Amino acid sequence: MPTTLLWLRRDLRLDDLPALGAAHDAADGGRVLPVFVLDPRLLEESAVRTHCLLSALESAQQAYDGAIVLRTGDPEQVVPDLVREIGASSVHISAESTPFGRRRDAAVREALPEGVPLVATGCAYAVGPGTIRNGSGDPYQVFTPFSRAWREHGWPDPAPVPKDLRWHRQAESEGMPDRPDLGDVQLPEVGEEAAHQRWEAFLGDDVTAYDEERDRADHDRTSQMSVHLKYGTIHPRTLLADLRGRRDKGAHTFATELAWREFYADVLWQQPASAWSDLKPALRGMSYDDPETDDGVAQAMQAWREGRTGYPFVDAGMRQLLAEGWMHNRLRMVTASFLVKHLHVWWPHGARHFMQQLRDGDIASNNHGWQWVAGTGTDAAPYFRVFNPVTQGERFDPSGDYVRRYLPELRHLAGKAAHQPWGADDGYAQGYPERIVEHKEAREEALRRYEAARS
Ligand SMILES: Cc1cc2nc3c(=O)[nH]c(=O)nc-3n(C[C@H](O)[C@H](O)[C@H](O)COP(=O)(O)OP(=O)(O)OC[C@H]3O[C@@H](n4cnc5c(N)ncnc54)[C@H](O)[C@@H]3O)c2cc1C
Repeated sequence: MPTTLLWLRRDLRLDDLPALGAAHDAADGGRVLPVFVLDPRLLEESAVRTHCLLSALESAQQAYDGAIVLRTGDPEQVVPDLVREIGASSVHISAESTPFGRRRDAAVREALPEGVPLVATGCAYAVGPGTIRNGSGDPYQVFTPFSRAWREHGWPDPAPVPKDLRWHRQAESEGMPDRPDLGDVQLPEVGEEAAHQRWEAFLGDDVTAYDEERDRADHDRTSQMSVHLKYGTIHPRTLLADLRGRRDKGAHTFATELAWREFYADVLWQQPASAWSDLKPALRGMSYDDPETDDGVAQAMQAWREGRTGYPFVDAGMRQLLAEGWMHNRLRMVTASFLVKHLHVWWPHGARHFMQQLRDGDIASNNHGWQWVAGTGTDAAPYFRVFNPVTQGERFDPSGDYVRRYLPELRHLAGKAAHQPWGADDGYAQGYPERIVEHKEAREEALRRYEAARS
């Protein structure tokens, strides 16, 4: 009877995994060997993400009853070697849509022994990137019509776990690597069980209130599902199935947020170069300051990274990122805007820092989120809309609790006063830094550069 290989990547779950069903069907009563390749190129990118990945992998190993074989190396070498070793008849994957993933999978497909196909079934999205097209057969450039078409297209029900699964247990596995030591950084457990627990908790009260509460940084009532979606410990189809039939605005808005994730994956699939370069050429003539060649800019960027810009809302966001490997969406917008429009730094510099620090760091959502802020992406915010970091704080953290949670130097300031330490006699008494740039001047400079780029 045939043996098939299930090559797991960012789909570390047992439930609702169509590629597992395909591997099982192809084995036709034979056995499935699940494998995870520890690819040094990916493990070295970010200690935070490696920590989360290994957490998800440990959890999957338990769910798979210890059957996942771990091998270190380049998948182009490791996967074909394993196929030969066990005589696998096919290799099964969830389709990948990032530029790196697509290149890697194409190389592995080429390297497989003759007659052994690489079969992609399902992917990390409810609707596969590249599927949704407008009436002329072109991809959508703008989110709202995309999301409408995405809902109309719909998605299948979650896939059940195949019955009578039998694992191949003859191949040797390396041990599970230790998770990197991250000092004081607080990360949640990532895994299928943790994902379902988090989702159940959110489905209770928070999804109903989501529409009203999602922008309130001080209330912290978003789902925190991003890390689970990142490692595929739960599939968005499962979330959408649980929301089906709900008529409340909260559930509708939540599904729309998932659609943003799908939209950005689609944009990246259509235009892989947009990962690290401006998607829209309109601002290509923009002049930016370069932290790699200018010490003053490098220092300002370091203050931004460490949460020492002197703007409490920005600094609280950046310190949340360092402490938890996560940041509230409103803060991602405000901190990214600060780097691009107050410090005049090109967005990839900031996107790279986010990719290193975010537990949910995802090239499509992150780099297009940055381009949205920078005004260079599909459906982006207009460049001339410059967030005021103080009024943003007063609006989305009106209690000041968010700022005080992450900035001990401002805990002595009550309520909204925490957003303007310069307005209190003792505002700087606990060592909070002075502002590194003046908002009005920085805004005018951003607009001046914008006008110059446009002409
Ligand atoms: C500059 C910038 C960088 C970002 N980087 C990332 C990233 O690396 N990884 C990432 O998953 N998201 C990123 N986002 C999107 C968003 O901020 C996060 O998905 C969200 O904050 C995660 O928290 P949550 O799971 O509690 O979200 P919720 O508000 O509960 O939303 C539910 C889910 O919807 C999706 N979602 C929500 N908002 C967006 C959005 N604007 N774009 C794409 N998907 C969205 C996410 O999958 C999220 O988990 C970025 C946004 C910006 C502005």
